Formats: sequence, structure tokens, C-alpha cells
Amino acid sequence: MNAPTVAAPAVRHHFAKTMSDPVSIPKAGIERAVEILRSHRLFRYGEDTGGLSEVAHLEAEFAQYTGRPYAVAVNSCGCSLFLALKALGVEPGAPVLCNAFTLAPVPGAIAHAGARGVLVDITPALTIDLDYLALKIDRSGARVLLLSHMRGHVGDMRALMALCQERGVAVVEDCAHTLNAYWDGQMVGTFGQIACFSAQTFKHINSGEGGLVVTDNAHWAAKITVMSGSYMMYGQHGAGPDLHHFEAIRDQTPNFSMRMSNLVAALLRPQLPLLETWTQQWNRSYHQLEAGLSNLAGLGTIPRDQRERYVGSSIQFTAAGLSPEAIRAFVADAAAHGVFLKWFGAPRTAGFTSRYDQWGYIADKPPLTRADELLATLLDMRIAVDFDRADCELITTVLQESLAAVGGGHREPLRG
Ligand SMILES: *Cc1c(COP(=O)(O)O)cnc(C)c1O
Repeated sequence: MNAPTVAAPAVRHHFAKTMSDPVSIPKAGIERAVEILRSHRLFRYGEDTGGLSEVAHLEAEFAQYTGRPYAVAVNSCGCSLFLALKALGVEPGAPVLCNAFTLAPVPGAIAHAGARGVLVDITPALTIDLDYLALKIDRSGARVLLLSHMRGHVGDMRALMALCQERGVAVVEDCAHTLNAYWDGQMVGTFGQIACFSAQTFKHINSGEGGLVVTDNAHWAAKITVMSGSYMMYGQHGAGPDLHHFEAIRDQTPNFSMRMSNLVAALLRPQLPLLETWTQQWNRSYHQLEAGLSNLAGLGTIPRDQRERYVGSSIQFTAAGLSPEAIRAFVADAAAHGVFLKWFGAPRTAGFTSRYDQWGYIADKPPLTRADELLATLLDMRIAVDFDRADCELITTVLQESLAAVGGGHREPLRG
């Protein structure tokens, strides 16, 4: 008698590496941090300091790195966004423009300043929609745009700056994911009047917490310095304006105590010289993953402009070929096989996702058709800096198998 034929169980691949491994702290940074601990001098200011503090050195190096004259180190990027808005004179109740696709600290900074967020729709490249922006500038009368290069996607910065200049709108760049990125040969973070960077663990440099603000404007730099909590020791900065710029503001400007500690600066300083190497490693993986994902039916990659030199520390893609239920199952199946995706379209945002329609503290939330459509199927995956070719191949295989498991994987478009 013939044995009944049993279908061989499908062999499923599993990704075992940690996807959320942050960049590591160089040995020199750890040793310097220990030295600082032993010295007990963790606070950046002192009444009898012999020289520049560790934070002041970082400021000087960061100003040089970004090619901007003034840099102020603070405790987080979110706080630096708040300080930038305050420096620009944003008053409580004032409208502040921001792109609808961003992370919660951005509308949070607007709320922190007591201002009113005015949301702007996005393009299929996940960048701000300039036509919509022009319309919103005219309708809201806003004088400031808080521009988030969310997940590292950079739009046409020359067109954006021209538009904002023409309408008298100041631009604060949120560069949390664009440290070492370029648009059309110019470093991102050097277009807007003020730019803010993050050193939070999951960004491009890692000190757990930390933020840096850069600007070309001495008056704003002085205000940000005093607001960050310099007391009257604003002369102890590494890339600050001449002291006479403080005279008019020092007694008029509140202290918000948002300083960076010397320990944090010690961890960050040796990371700056490694950024270009890290960027190349990230981008190699990004390109490989992008090519792999573009072959999977049901998924779509995000268009990127030739003029954008991004830092591929994460990758976004759409699952427009799948129903919401299938996306949920796909994300769960991939996670069960070691590949962790974030879904911006989930009914409730979770983890490091955020969606504008769930910012309950923003009163005015017109439906944004493009953002709604894109975010509904948008998926996001972190890329660890040390992923190699085999890792990226395995991740693509896991995703392909997860798609197949939820009934996706056809090559023809599933929608429309
Ligand atoms: C992480 C992040 C921030 C805030 O950075 P923190 O240093 O964590 O405050 C702001 N904007 C975007 C887009 C981010 O991803």
C-alpha cells in the first residue's frame, strides 16, 4: 500500500541578528567618559575650569563638521526643536507649519512652545508637498516651518528654501535622521535658518540622549545658549557667538535647563569621524534591501531623487498590494521570523511610529489625502550599521516568505 503523500513542511528562514543594534560607542569615548567620571566634573560649566569642557569641544567639532559657525549642545533633539522655535520668536498661539509625516517629538516641540501646529501634506517620496506648503503658508499666515526630514527623506531643498524665502517663512530643519546627508551636494542642516540633530540611541550618533543645534545667526545662537541653561557662563561655549551678542538678551531670556552633560559629549566626540564610514555601510545595505524588496509583489519602494545623498539607517516601503488585515498578519509573521517592521497605518500607532491623526493635542487636523493613503500601507525597517550582504539577503528572504504566508507574493498589482 502506498503511503499517503504529505507535503513537505515549508522550510522557513529566520533572521537571528538584532535589528535594532545601535551604533557602538568607540573605545576612546568610553575611556574618556570614565576619566570624566573619575574627575567628578560632569557638568559642562564651572567657576574655575582650566579650559573648555568636553561639551564645548563637541560644539566646536560639530560646528566644523556641519560647516556652520554656531553650534549649541543640548539634552535632546526634541528640546533643540523647541529652543529653535523660541529663538525665532514663536509666541504662544502662533501657527507653526510642519509636515504631516514625522515623529511625535516634532508636534511635541510645537506644543512645548505653546504654538499651534499647521499640518502640511506629503508627496509619494515621503517629503513635504511644496504646492500644499505654499497654500498653507498663505492660509495660516505662519512665519515658521518646522521641516522634518522624516526617516531621512529629503525633498527639493533649493525649491523649498526659495518658496519660504519669498514668503518670509523661517525654516527649522529637523535632522534627526539626516546627519551626514546631502541634497544636491550641500549638507542637509545647512539650508534652514536653524537645524537640529539628535544623538538619541537610534539615530546616527549614539549617546542615549543628546541634541545639537546649528545656525549662522549670532543672535539666535546667543538666545539658544542662554535658554539651554548656560546661567551667565555662556562664554564657556565651543562654537558660540562673540560675547557682545549676549548683552541685549542675557537678562531677558529664560533658562529652560536643557544642557548636555560632559559624559554625553565624551561618548559623541569620537563618533563624528566615523560617520562617513557608517553612512557607506548603511547605504550598501539600503541599496541591497531596496533592490530585494522591489522584487517582492505587493510591496513598493519609495522613490528617491538623484540629488539626495541619504543615510540609509532605515528603509521605508509600502504594502499597497495588501489589505490592512494582510499587512497586520505580514508584520506579525515577519516578527515571528526575526524581522521587525513598523507599520504606520496600524489602528493605533505603536513603538517608534507616529501618525498625525493621532496627535490629539493638535486642534486643526484636516484630512490629508496623500498622507492618509501613503501612511495606511507604509512599513519601516531599521538597518543596523553592521548588516552585511548575507544579512540583507536573509531579511529579504524572510519577508518574501512572510508575504507568501499571508497570501501575497504575486507579481501583478493587487489593487485597482
Ligand atoms: C528621534 C526624532 C526626533 C527627536 O529626537 P530626540 O533626540 O529623541 O528628542 C525628532 N524628529 C525625528 C524625525 C526623530 O526621528
